[in-house]
Amino acid sequence: MRKAFKYRLYPTKPQARDLERTLELCRQLYNAALQERREAYKKAGKTVGFYEQKRSLLEVRAALPEYKRIHSQVLQDVLQRVDRAFQGFFRRLKGRKGKAGFPRFKGKGRYDSFTFPQAYATGVKLQEGGKRVLLHGIGSVKVKLHRPLEGKLKTATLKREGEGWYIVFVCEVEPKPLPPSDRAVGIDLGTNPHFLITSEGEKVEAPRRYQKTQEKLAKKQKELSRKRRGSRRYLKTKKQLAKLHRKVARQRRDFHHKVARSLVNRYGTIVHEDLNVLGLARSYLAKGVHDAGWAQFLFILAYKAEEAGRRVVGVDPKHTSQDCPVCGHREKRPLWVREFTCPTCGTLLHRDVAAAQNVLARAWAGPSGKGAAEAAT
Ligand SMILES: [Zn+2]
Repeated sequence: MRKAFKYRLYPTKPQARDLERTLELCRQLYNAALQERREAYKKAGKTVGFYEQKRSLLEVRAALPEYKRIHSQVLQDVLQRVDRAFQGFFRRLKGRKGKAGFPRFKGKGRYDSFTFPQAYATGVKLQEGGKRVLLHGIGSVKVKLHRPLEGKLKTATLKREGEGWYIVFVCEVEPKPLPPSDRAVGIDLGTNPHFLITSEGEKVEAPRRYQKTQEKLAKKQKELSRKRRGSRRYLKTKKQLAKLHRKVARQRRDFHHKVARSLVNRYGTIVHEDLNVLGLARSYLAKGVHDAGWAQFLFILAYKAEEAGRRVVGVDPKHTSQDCPVCGHREKRPLWVREFTCPTCGTLLHRDVAAAQNVLARAWAGPSGKGAAEAAT
């Protein structure tokens, strides 16, 4: 399986300029390649393919010497991105009966990375035991490997985030199975102030630190709206805001990793509500949750589970918060009702714990849950 390792880079000023320049040239190439394809498609209804464009790279490099300094595979990867964008466009055309927007041109600030697709062989090399990384066309850049790189290196992507530069290594790693466990748990995602509640009654809250940054972010947002658009102060506040956004995202991701790790370590099977079921987003909005990033959390959870040889199951979320997990009695209750006694069987229930228990039960009952039942027996 593939795993990504992201590290901060510490380029010198000239190196940062070179990174910046490479990124800008890649962006221009992206837009030019996109333009060529769009025109061919609009004028003649034909498609210019990846290989055709790849061949013309030679001419580009001959005519525009600034492109010679960039590794040819980095440029090929740019064309690959254009190709992917077009594949997506054609897929959408099919799906929506002929209505789909063309892939878009990337403005400055909308193009933030470039990739060495065969970093294991060429273009990128770690030096001095991982203290520096040699990048073709850029030089030897200081890097901080805050956690060790594992597995076999595949690709390396240089990424700009705000003022900072990062390198993301994608590696092929062996799964690390944990000893099997027949414990299963259901989770109910997101009713404030909880991030999740399990069928065993465990309540997980977002960390204080994260909540504080979010408050700061909201304040900054207000500050920005009071400033005149385009003014010096506006731009300064905007920059601070972007920085806070990145901080929130980073803290949220760390938190998601921690929660997922703890669940995967303890349970052989983890059952959650399937986010892909239509209409769920709406019901979560009703719960007052906008920015919890469930999709990211479930992605991380699924990933960690796969790595550990454990099972994650998504089930239909319909009525999970209305049914009594003991007798099945269904009743709609206002959101503010946290605890209640089931009128049919008399069980005292906590709304979200009950929901999590229903979620767990569904993995055994529903068709998508068969695998989970097998895994646990
Ligand atoms: Zn009941």
